[in-house]
Amino acid sequence: MITVVALLILGITAALMLLAYLRMPLRIYVAIVLALTWSTSIIQYPDNTSLIVSGLVTMLALMLLIRPVRRHILTKSIFNAFKRALPPMSETERTALEAGDTWWDAELFTGKPDWSQLLNVETATLTKEEQEFLDGPVNELCEIIDDWEITHIHRRIPDPVWEFMKHHRFFGMIIPKAYGGLEMSALAHSQVVMKVASRSVSAAVTVMVPNSLGPAELLLRYGTQQQKDYYLPRLATGIEIPCFALTAPEAGSDASSIPDTGTVCYGKHDGQDDVLGIRLNWSKRYITLGPVATLLGLAFNLEDPDNLLGKGIEPGITCALIPTNTKGVSIGRRHYPMNQAFQNGPNQGHDVFIPVDWIIGGQDKASEGWKMLMECLAAGRAISLPSLSVGGAKVASQSAGAYARIREQFGLPIGKFEGIEEVLSRIAANTYMMDATRTLTLTALDMGHHPSVISAISKQQLTERMRMSINDAMDIMGGAGISMGPKNIFARVYEALPISITVEGANILTRSLIIFGQGAIRSHPYVYREMKAANEPDPTIGLRDFDQAFFSHVGMFISNAVRSFWLGLTNGRTASVPVSTHSKRYLQQLNRMSAAFALVSDTCMFTLGGSLKRKEHISARLADVFSMLYLTSATIKRFEEQGAHEEEAPLLRAACHSAFYYIQESLHGVTRNLPFTFIGVLLRWLVFPRGRAYSAPFDHFLHDAASVLLTPSATRSRLIEGIYISKNKNDQKAKLEDALATVIAAEKAEKKLKQAIRSGIITKSRNKDEIIADAEQCGLLSDEELQRIKRARAARLDIIAVDDFDADLGLSTTDYLDQPAVKMA
Ligand SMILES: Cc1cc2nc3c(=O)[nH]c(=O)nc-3n(C[C@H](O)[C@H](O)[C@H](O)COP(=O)(O)OP(=O)(O)OC[C@H]3O[C@@H](n4cnc5c(N)ncnc54)[C@H](O)[C@@H]3O)c2cc1C
Repeated sequence: MITVVALLILGITAALMLLAYLRMPLRIYVAIVLALTWSTSIIQYPDNTSLIVSGLVTMLALMLLIRPVRRHILTKSIFNAFKRALPPMSETERTALEAGDTWWDAELFTGKPDWSQLLNVETATLTKEEQEFLDGPVNELCEIIDDWEITHIHRRIPDPVWEFMKHHRFFGMIIPKAYGGLEMSALAHSQVVMKVASRSVSAAVTVMVPNSLGPAELLLRYGTQQQKDYYLPRLATGIEIPCFALTAPEAGSDASSIPDTGTVCYGKHDGQDDVLGIRLNWSKRYITLGPVATLLGLAFNLEDPDNLLGKGIEPGITCALIPTNTKGVSIGRRHYPMNQAFQNGPNQGHDVFIPVDWIIGGQDKASEGWKMLMECLAAGRAISLPSLSVGGAKVASQSAGAYARIREQFGLPIGKFEGIEEVLSRIAANTYMMDATRTLTLTALDMGHHPSVISAISKQQLTERMRMSINDAMDIMGGAGISMGPKNIFARVYEALPISITVEGANILTRSLIIFGQGAIRSHPYVYREMKAANEPDPTIGLRDFDQAFFSHVGMFISNAVRSFWLGLTNGRTASVPVSTHSKRYLQQLNRMSAAFALVSDTCMFTLGGSLKRKEHISARLADVFSMLYLTSATIKRFEEQGAHEEEAPLLRAACHSAFYYIQESLHGVTRNLPFTFIGVLLRWLVFPRGRAYSAPFDHFLHDAASVLLTPSATRSRLIEGIYISKNKNDQKAKLEDALATVIAAEKAEKKLKQAIRSGIITKSRNKDEIIADAEQCGLLSDEELQRIKRARAARLDIIAVDDFDADLGLSTTDYLDQPAVKMA
């Protein structure tokens, strides 16, 4: 009897776990439980206890299945408790949360992502016209850009470069052709920024800002036809130089708190009295292109105390377009961000009167500015800085990799030392992962999505990884990285790192507050629906919607607990995935970690409720896990899409192993720091039933990944594709490419030479020229071999040389200050 009951309990548990693992609908669970309990009762008939148990189970099952009953008996009280526990949310927070849409992030939050959906998405490609633009005007622009001249000598973009940008409509990449713009896809736009960034951060920022969140995008989405017809052609051709001014001295990260005001009143404009308009007062700072802008996009708080607009509108952030020659506007002064030469500065307005028509979108859009800004944020944030960052990482891969093969110490290329290998492998893996993430995100944009959480992840992760890659590259370059001058590839990018970390959402804030905070609501399959239900004015509809979402949520939670535990026990091997290449095991691990992430996230939300918002230690770790799931998905997709080449596997391995190790440590960190120890312990047991399984990449993985950067190959070319290598043979990056080939070509002969020294045929000398002369004399090497050695030596000496200047560092040579070309645009 006891054995039968035990077997039954075991059977039911196993059946329920299997159903939960497979995520079956509630009615199937109920049917199976009923079948098992009633069959036991029949077997044990006439035992009354089992009949009673079956009766109770049936009643419970009916209550769960019949929705009106369930709502009344169960859901109502849960719904009320949920409403009480919901943290208060300001209108600006709500607007920010609701902006944009979701994409692959939502799949990751289910804990059971559909990989074929991701792998079948066709990655965005360039049109012929876009490719021609990249091969033509973009290459030409890159060729005329000299970053040292721009940043050290002119400290501004020289006129010819401005003119070239305007003439070729670099400021109109997002503007439709109908208005004279280039109407580029997100991918093409990104390729342009990435390529220009590989030449000069200052030039890239100058190109990217008019195409990011600002006048053009706001006009396209919200402008009146009249505004579009007038301004878009002028913006596309650079007749207008735009800027967008939101940040104020007291309102940085908390941008919605701007103190700048605009009061609706009557005033004088264009010689006419009694024009309905707005009197503005503002003080802004950090505004890119601000000092040279002709058209200022301004965000301010609109008030209409006398209800002159006749709408009784609430005061609210409003966006207007103001020509900078308007009376009372003060621009021109500059900040000096990290020795970069793009235009950035403060601006003020004192009692500036503008007609109400200057509001973007006209009167209808008064007080709608915050919503407009939040809705537009995703696209620019996913393109500008991520593309600039990938450009930086690709340059690190190209130049630091080549340098590590060319530069010798202790008789060996420094890239052969394990210490440097470790750093090189990190650059390689980061670049691979970053470019995969960039491309996947652009694909989402080109499919018409505005994925707000993904864009935050891309911005935060790619700028952080650029910081890592450039820091690593600087270490590899040693003194050559530190000595400033035209030959230095990394110093200016290194200086620019904090800029990309700070702008478009400072990274600490984005990581700690936004990625998980917004993701847990928007990307989560049910939380947003539950919250909407709680805010539904009709209580019956609210309860109905909540009931549906809540029970699906509970089902997903149970399923994720089971999946997490089972996939942990089996190390993910039972997860079915649609690939059989190197990435198969990584996809299985992603399945496992996606379930673990969803389980831990739900547990944190459930246990911490509204206070999770303030627990930034926890939400930052969850953001890291979420981000790593996205970045790893992108990396695997890229590997598969590029043909799952064996030669690319080292990059995949190094990237994925680091990612899983990081995910594991972050999840562990969350469970260790939950306020309820018991829940933390339980979660650890469910997520890591066999202990912590992941380790940092093995040393031989690091060796393989680093090797990709040390030798020209198809894999290396694919990795650094899209950056600009000058045709000018004196350009340092171009020299590095040539020198790399020259040095490799001489390696065999150099080996022979070293052998001869070891065996005493040639006397060891500190002077390499003498050694070569000896080798020449004793006829050990062929002419061809000697030439190769000589060429390699010359190339090495040229590459390792750093700039030096007169004692006053060139300060007395001020000719350049008089050049007419440096006048501002
Ligand atoms: C070069 C440059 C160009 C810019 N261009 C423009 C432009 O064109 N237009 C425009 O309007 N603005 C522009 N900005 C402003 C930029 O968007 C702001 O610098 C940014 O929003 C951060 O504001 P802040 O510098 O005042 O930093 P603060 O808001 O003072 O933040 C300081 C630190 O605190 C962190 N922090 C703040 N709140 C939280 C929180 N709740 N949790 C955790 N951490 C938090 C931040 O992450 C940051 O690390 C630019 C800035 C720079 C430097």
